[in-house]
Amino acid sequence: MRVLNFSPGPSALPLPVLERAAAEMTDTNGTGQSVMEMSHRSKDFKPIIEKTEALLRELMGIPANYKVLFLQGGASLQFSMIPLNLAAGDAPGKGKKVSYIDTGVWSDKAIKEAKKYAAVEVRASSKDKAYTYIPQAPAPGADDAYYHITLNNTIVGTKWDKIPNTGSVPLVSDVSSCILSEPLDVGKFGILYAGAQKNLGPAGTTVVIIREDLIGKAPDWVPVMLRYDTHSAEGSMYNTPPCYGIYIIGLVLEWLKNLGGVDAIGKLNREKAELFYNYLDNSKFFYSPVEKPYRSLMNIPFVTREKDETKKGELETRFVKEAAAVGLLNLAGHRLVGGMRASIYNAMTIEGVKALINFMEKFEKV
Ligand SMILES: *Cc1c(COP(=O)(O)O)cnc(C)c1O
Repeated sequence: MRVLNFSPGPSALPLPVLERAAAEMTDTNGTGQSVMEMSHRSKDFKPIIEKTEALLRELMGIPANYKVLFLQGGASLQFSMIPLNLAAGDAPGKGKKVSYIDTGVWSDKAIKEAKKYAAVEVRASSKDKAYTYIPQAPAPGADDAYYHITLNNTIVGTKWDKIPNTGSVPLVSDVSSCILSEPLDVGKFGILYAGAQKNLGPAGTTVVIIREDLIGKAPDWVPVMLRYDTHSAEGSMYNTPPCYGIYIIGLVLEWLKNLGGVDAIGKLNREKAELFYNYLDNSKFFYSPVEKPYRSLMNIPFVTREKDETKKGELETRFVKEAAAVGLLNLAGHRLVGGMRASIYNAMTIEGVKALINFMEKFEKV
């Protein structure tokens, strides 16, 4: 039996994708091989990576002057690669000025890493209210090398309600937990990056979408594997790319295209999120701690209204356990913030969200 998986990542994949991957496991496209067994430089793998890139370009409307890279190391390695490639100076710690907005755990990690290589200015933070909102975005410094935001904050469940205008300073964003969840104007960004395991495919592949003029700026001392110019020049094949992950991403993108693309999934994601937030806003038992204009479509944290901390903890533990017993999995909040969280990425159906609400209505009554 398939469970309803509300995991924040790695997270549920569309069932048709898994079934197709299973059917093609030992013989893909009549090659008599699994994708895992193919040479990445073979004529069998070439159409797979080309199809994945073409579908991503089509679905996201990626302009021709952007490169798409399939890398490894997760979104976390991009926390290092971005300052190393765009801002690093003659030696570590002697880099250019850069701006960051602090909206939670992931942006904070990006900031800590950037401080090793660049002169970081944290222009705004929502830490004062436990990251439950998105702060106003101040203008960048005139000579900033880039301006970094985390578009969707997976742990606290916030998302930017509008894209800040940073003028000629390239806007860089972590889109790990919101890529392809709704339409996004790629042209407003210098770099977008995402670990695949939330909304794109399996863990192990990182997608980087980078404007061409931002490639080739890393000083010589930056290691070869950490340079965008290395991967861009070799079409993500300087070394062996995460072949199987790229193949699964291709299947996910095909599934998404058949569904009607990003406009269609965006509409469905809004419906799913509205249904869940409406339920929370009208519940006497649960509530959403996130300020309304900044609520994520993908990650929805919620807590009980119980004031007694001990009872609250017990209730929440019981909730997660009883939900799991009926096949509603991975509803615990992040270990740093507690409470509960439902991650409802593209692969989560509206029926799945309804089943969760149904369970919560029953839980309230006992
Ligand atoms: C999950 C996540 C990360 C970490 O991704 P890794 O691929 O594990 O490095 C970074 N940023 C955001 C917004 C995330 O959701």
